[in-house]
This record gives sequence, structure tokens and C-alpha cells, in this order.
Amino acid sequence: MTGGRGGGKPGKPKLAMYWGASCGGCEIALVNLHERILDVDAAFDFMFCPCLLDTKKKDVEALPDGAIAVTLFNGALRSSENEEMARLLRRKSRLLIATGSCAVEGCIPGLANLRSREELIEGVYLDSPTLDNPQGTLPVGSSLTPLGALELPSLLPRVKTLREVVPVDYLIPGCPPESHQLWNALEAVILGELPAPGSFLGAGEGTVCRDCARTKEDKSIGRLYRNHEIEPVDGKCLLEQGMICLGVATRGGCGAPCPDANMPCSGCYGPPEGVADQGGAMIAALGSIIDPGEHRGKGEKELALRLEEFLDQVPDYAGLLYKYTLPGSVLGGRVKR
Ligand code: SF4
Ligand code: SF4
Repeated sequence: MTGGRGGGKPGKPKLAMYWGASCGGCEIALVNLHERILDVDAAFDFMFCPCLLDTKKKDVEALPDGAIAVTLFNGALRSSENEEMARLLRRKSRLLIATGSCAVEGCIPGLANLRSREELIEGVYLDSPTLDNPQGTLPVGSSLTPLGALELPSLLPRVKTLREVVPVDYLIPGCPPESHQLWNALEAVILGELPAPGSFLGAGEGTVCRDCARTKEDKSIGRLYRNHEIEPVDGKCLLEQGMICLGVATRGGCGAPCPDANMPCSGCYGPPEGVADQGGAMIAALGSIIDPGEHRGKGEKELALRLEEFLDQVPDYAGLLYKYTLPGSVLGGRVKR
């Protein structure tokens, strides 16, 4: 990589990568490009990436507006610092790309939207079973130290997606994006073959089922299984064997590696085009596949009871059906009545 202190080298278009509330997996997806990383280096001056490079926020601040050609922004927005960086990088970048499920839909950090900020702080600093904090010390916004005042970013009331805070030019789905798809997205940028603004890059058409080699037989199912409760039959659709496979409610493009490895799709590419709520789409899919059993042919009430009984087998709705999308979903988080 050619990036260095002070904002990189002149000449090549500047590339930046930033992480908000994220795990670093999207940076690993970039490194996982293997020799393609040399093509990225040839095309761009990779000048800012807190995980991999030593340039600082002040180096970005010193750039003229629009000086960065492309910023890949991964991570959800959890703190005031994430929000500040989103606004700064939006201003400095000609293309801002929400990269990976956290930036696109909120992903795992977004499950925190099932709790209030106060409940989260209490849970983490006062009630955690593995905690040793007899004085009940809580983080404070600023502290005076011999080296001067230290400021901590504040937690936002709820986790937000990047699109909720700043306009985004493109989106790359996945947790993390499959490296070959990240390359496809970068190649489209390099070759100037970008689709209409606001489109998804590095994704396929339709759902994961389209990429999946398992066959569907339009079977209905009598019960659901958790992954450890069943050894799935090779070649047959996992959902039709009673596993909660979100492939039917998930954007395609990953190549379906999970069902290929006997694991149901957990939905990391988010809802397919035109679907606003992945969890809702999956509940509809489950509703259409259940075997009504002895309730067959009975009235609406009995069928509703059967559906309830069936859905009661889902151990953790939010964790399973909104694992990647809660902040970006119709609900956005816990709804208080
Ligand atoms: S539901 Fe899952 S296993 Fe079945 S075809 Fe779709 S992706 Fe494959
Ligand atoms: S199969 Fe599902 S969980 Fe696996 S990579 Fe694809 S979208 Fe993500």
C-alpha cells in the first residue's frame, strides 16, 4: 500500500476505509482479495484506514472537500464519534459506499436496539455476570488526567445505519461481503462501470435460493429444528427439512456458501431488492410452508393457532430473523406500547 502520513501521495485517486461499530471483518474481506489487493494499490492511493494505516482524522480534515475518490464505510453508527466521522467522510468523499451489513442495515451491533442506552450501560457495567466492579464505576464523558482532559464519545440513543445519517452513493451487502463480490464492486468503481446511484454493488439478483444448489420440492414442514437437532439430507432444501434457512428472504450474490456447507443461510446479505423488512418476509415464508396438520381445512382461527404453535418453536425471533437488519427494518428496534 502506498498510503502514508499526511494524506497519501498525489496522483492516484484516494481510497479511504473507515470502521464505525464493527468487528473488522470488512477490512479482512479487503485483505482477503489476495493478489487483487495489488490491483487496488495500482488504482488507488489507499490513504486512510484506522485498522490498517497510520493516517489520522486530522489528515482527513486537512483535505479539501471531495478530495477522496471513494470511501468504503463499514460499521454501524453507535457513538457520536461514528456519526462525526460519517459526516466528515461524506464531505471529503466523492463516492461514499456503505460497505457490509453493519453500515447497510445495522447488523449485530444493531440488536442493541432491543434495549435502551441506559439498560445497555447498566447491563455492561453493573449487571454482567463476569464483571468485577464493586464500586459500580460507570464511564463518564470527560475526565481530567495529568496529560489533560480526556473526552469519551457518547453513545447514541439507538444504533443507526449509515443512510440514516448521511446520503450514501452505493451499498455493498454482506457480513462481511464475500471478497470476490467486494472485488466486483471495486472493479466497477475502477472501470467507471457503476450502476445508478443508490444501487447495491457486489450483489446478485433475486435471493440466495437462486444461487443455492439444493433442490426444493414444495414440501411443507411439521416442525422446526435448531441446527444441532438435525443432520440434513444432502442436496435437499434445508428449509424444507425444517431448518430456519433465510435464503428465501435474503439478497443473493454470496454464492450460497452456507447451505453448501450444510448450514442454513442466516441472512447476512439483507433483504432482497424490493423487500423492506427481511424478518417480515421470513415470517411470511414460514407461514407459507407450514403443514397445518390436523387443522387442515379448518377455519381461520384454528389455522392462526397452528401458526402460533409453529412459530413458538423459533427460539429467538429478533436474533434469528433480524440478526442483520434490525436498525434498518420497519421496526428499527424495540417498540414500546
Ligand atoms: S431455503 Fe436455503 S437451503 Fe433452501 S434453496 Fe433457499 S438457500 Fe437453499
Ligand atoms: S448464505 Fe446467507 S449467511 Fe451465508 S454468506 Fe450468503 S447471505 Fe450470508
